[in-house]
Amino acid sequence: MSAATDTIAAIASAPGAAGVGVLRVSGPRVPAIAQALLGRAPRPRHAHFASFHDAQGEPIDHGLLLHFPAPASYTGEHVLELQGHGSPVLLDALLRRICELGARLARPGEFTERAFLNGKLDLAQAEAVADLIAARSQAGARAALRSMDGVFSRRVDALLQSLITLRVHIEAAIDFPEEEIDFLADPAIAQQLESLRTQLAELLREAQRGLRLNDGLRVAIVGRPNAGKSSLLNALAGSDRAIVTAIAGTTRDVLRESVALDGIALELADTAGLRDTDDEVEREGVRRAHGELARADAALLVTDADHAEADLALFDALPAGAARVVLVNKIDLAHAAPHAETRDGIHWLWASAKTGAGLAALRDHLKQLAGAGSGEGAFSARRRHVLALETVREHLARTAHALATIRAGELAAEELRQAQHALGEITGAYTSDDLLGAIFGSFCIGK
Ligand code: GDP
Ligand code: ZN
Repeated sequence: MSAATDTIAAIASAPGAAGVGVLRVSGPRVPAIAQALLGRAPRPRHAHFASFHDAQGEPIDHGLLLHFPAPASYTGEHVLELQGHGSPVLLDALLRRICELGARLARPGEFTERAFLNGKLDLAQAEAVADLIAARSQAGARAALRSMDGVFSRRVDALLQSLITLRVHIEAAIDFPEEEIDFLADPAIAQQLESLRTQLAELLREAQRGLRLNDGLRVAIVGRPNAGKSSLLNALAGSDRAIVTAIAGTTRDVLRESVALDGIALELADTAGLRDTDDEVEREGVRRAHGELARADAALLVTDADHAEADLALFDALPAGAARVVLVNKIDLAHAAPHAETRDGIHWLWASAKTGAGLAALRDHLKQLAGAGSGEGAFSARRRHVLALETVREHLARTAHALATIRAGELAAEELRQAQHALGEITGAYTSDDLLGAIFGSFCIGK
């Protein structure tokens, strides 16, 4: 990939007044720009205190100037960082001055895109930079930091190496048709493939956990009208009122809350009461609730002792891997004590949204589902990574079938080639401009 020839600049700190504001510049014109601003060549990686002037020599601001020469910088290019007073007016004037000196305004994510194109980080690491900035929980931030440091990428690369080794073996066999059959029947090949599939399954599980740490566990709260869904949502959100954020696009029928429970993110959706109905408006609500269930990581069924068994049918709309939790609510009316048990893969809790009895156990269970205690090595992942790993799993299954059942070396090699491609898309070994545009376009300016 060719080096960029132009120089980009942006305000890297958040908009609005602040104590300090940061400007970032990257590209070949940085040494000249730094020299012009400082009046002499800056020392590499040294904080110079300087006065910044406009083209007429009028002072704009004074602050710090740091030069990180290529290639030992964030982008791999010459990078200049200016720290001034955090006034939007001053920062704009300074940015204008830098553009006069030969830079242009950076697009969102363009610094990180250059870092990727210059091999400073791979695509999954670049995505983790954005996820770190956007993290809504401490566990999510820690996981994103690990992905940015390459924990996830190294796992992907290791798998990629094993995959390539196996593919080379099989392709070598194809080149010697008289030995191909024997070779493909070799148990060592089957063993290699099995081990690959085991590794992949483990990585997929961890990536799914990483996705939940990143995006938050998506919990659909369902149940018939008046079961206590809204009360429960308020009780869960209320315990962390300060970090509850309203989510844009809230519909009349699905109310969403983003909640962090002890540093673990949850996306709660309170759906309209689910029941079969002839009413046009209610039917729409039910349709949306079903849609909510179909994309949930977990369903929380709010019900009572009389209706619990009948209401279990609501779980039918859930995807296979989703967690199922039943909350038997209003135990205060029955003067019952809170307790919990797991039956047939469904976690049952008896509680009261009104008195709060049993809700601590519910919070603990949700935190567990969301990846709490997922360990020191947990990394963040995105939905596209999980989808890519699922694609790899499909191709490996077909590889196994080709080898075991029909002994078709060509077919197996082709499946492995496609698996390799899907895996390579995670770290950016194979990319399209569309993919890069979508990924970096969603970054903030100045990153
Ligand atoms: P939704 O229609 O499922 O959202 O139900 P709401 O949260 O609006 O609650 C329906 C009614 O049940 C309200 O009057 C609540 O105050 C009441 N309610 C909810 N949870 C409890 C509970 O645990 N105990 C008692 N006694 N009443 C509850
Ligand atoms: Zn409600």
